[in-house]
Amino acid sequence: MLAAAAVLAGAPPAPAAEEPAAIPLSRALTLLETGGADSATLTGNIGAQSLVVRVDGRERITPLPSGLTERVIDASQEGGVPLRVIAPPAEPAAVGDEGGAGFQLQAFAQTWGPLILLAGLVIVSALALRVAGGARFKQNVRPVRSPSRFADVAGIDEIRDEVSEISDVLRDPARFDRVGATLPRGIILHGPPGTGKTLLARAVAGEAGVPFFSASGSEFVEVYGGLGSKRVRALFAAARKAAPSVVYIDEIDAVGSRRTGHASSGEREQTLDQLLTEMDGFAIHATRPVVVLASTNRIEDLDPALIRSGRFDRKIAVGLPGKEARREILDVHLRGRPLSPGTDSQTIAAFTVGMAGADLAALCNEASFEAARAGTDAISLPHFRRALMRLAAGPERKGRLLSEDERLLVAYHEMGHALVGHMSPLCDPVERVTVIPQGMALGVTIALPSEDKFLATRQECIERMGMIMAGRAAEELVFGEFTSGAADDLIRASTLARRMVGEMGMGAGTTAQSLASGLPGTQGAEASERAEAAAHRLVEDAFRTATGVLAQHLELLHLGARRLMDEEALERDELADLFGPRPTSRRLHPLGEPRIPL
Ligand code: ADP
Ligand code: MG
Ligand code: ZN
Repeated sequence: MLAAAAVLAGAPPAPAAEEPAAIPLSRALTLLETGGADSATLTGNIGAQSLVVRVDGRERITPLPSGLTERVIDASQEGGVPLRVIAPPAEPAAVGDEGGAGFQLQAFAQTWGPLILLAGLVIVSALALRVAGGARFKQNVRPVRSPSRFADVAGIDEIRDEVSEISDVLRDPARFDRVGATLPRGIILHGPPGTGKTLLARAVAGEAGVPFFSASGSEFVEVYGGLGSKRVRALFAAARKAAPSVVYIDEIDAVGSRRTGHASSGEREQTLDQLLTEMDGFAIHATRPVVVLASTNRIEDLDPALIRSGRFDRKIAVGLPGKEARREILDVHLRGRPLSPGTDSQTIAAFTVGMAGADLAALCNEASFEAARAGTDAISLPHFRRALMRLAAGPERKGRLLSEDERLLVAYHEMGHALVGHMSPLCDPVERVTVIPQGMALGVTIALPSEDKFLATRQECIERMGMIMAGRAAEELVFGEFTSGAADDLIRASTLARRMVGEMGMGAGTTAQSLASGLPGTQGAEASERAEAAAHRLVEDAFRTATGVLAQHLELLHLGARRLMDEEALERDELADLFGPRPTSRRLHPLGEPRIPL
């Protein structure tokens, strides 16, 4: 059975050798806050959760009343205790889907290296969010003393400098008032999820030592049916009373996206109106200011009224961290986690291209668990690599699930991906190939980008598509038959092809020809038919190319598949030994004279 729960949980709960002894909740929280616990785990459904803390190698358990989840998260952050949230079992996957879901995840891995990580992690962080969201289900508005500091926010120095002024003013408003410095009323932090926007907002309040009032946009519209605007009013009233203070609205797009005028969104718009009224209504009190911070990952969706001057008129972009920034973020999360000699944040930063701060935090935590499972005192590079694989595709499930026949087919399929990836100079290097069921997949091929890239060339897209189609190509070449396992690869390849044609203008070999196959973004029956035909050609070509590469290196394919059957998993170095040197090609090189006179 391929249960979705396995993917969500990330890791099974630590095997309970003995029933953990009970402990009072207050004691457990203290252990978290003071860092007296080694680790902690939250399990069960909201409302029926348990908190397990591990102290000196022994587990202690306490039931957790609803509404306290957030308190646990805060406490463990304060004490630097790694906290895991284990999902309650989800609905079992539909049985009929099993075959189709076969090779799902590995396909993701080849399509866009970093994306699989994000996709894998999105599940984990969405889960945590859901739990945290539930915990905020409280009726009265209460501020917290935020324990976060700017030192906890790494890799975004420019932004931190900009924001830290606000803390300075909040801490000593009178001093700034004397020289006529006034605060912006509202600041929007925008950027991809997990980049530290919430953390930054908390740090503003924490650093200034003022009360922090937080709410989430979705909570206004989803949870408080009919009560959204009331709640906005209460939030601001409380914040003003406690001023100087910080109000933080997470996911503001949930209330603040463009007004449609549809009757169905009346509730949301009423809430938005109330928010606008509050923003306009309070005169900034020079010595008792209230600063409103908000965050969103879709700033372009926000209603223009919201970002007009005098409201959220300061916008700060928080982007995905580059390599150096990742190193700094890793340093924050590796504090108090012993690394083995030779393992450093620099190296880890190099193979975590595309990951956000939240992903890096999860990686460090997961790597600690890998080290703990292995029974070592220090975390080393292999632990990080394994943690990455685990976060990307879920825990590996040992124990034979497949018949030998099917296992052989999976071995050829995966080896097809790996071999074509190896022979395509612009594909990201293959990090690991397995015939071990993992998450929803029966076998996995993971390719990791080795450098930060911000653009994709056409040739890169083409080679990537070839690698995606190579699993199916190997099946057909070797067995003269093909399986449902490649269903997801096919979808992934067509999606990429359609994006190439319809978004990037890459349908053909030159821009002029590409444009002839349809302008990006256009609609209409004839245009979309042409675009569809162009996408079709791309996928067909990719499949043909992949088959050609495999046919040319058939011996290597057989060798690789046999080795994979024996070893279950092959790592990057083993593949390099097996396949020999990779062909090289420069990604971008000028063709002689510039074509356009400069
Ligand atoms: P966002 O609000 O942008 O989605 P969060 O602030 O909620 O992201 O980030 C979640 C967690 O990820 C943080 O609590 C922190 O542990 C980690 N994190 C994210 N960005 C950073 C960063 N720049 N420095 C250190 N930790 C970070
Ligand atoms: Mg957030
Ligand atoms: Zn595949």
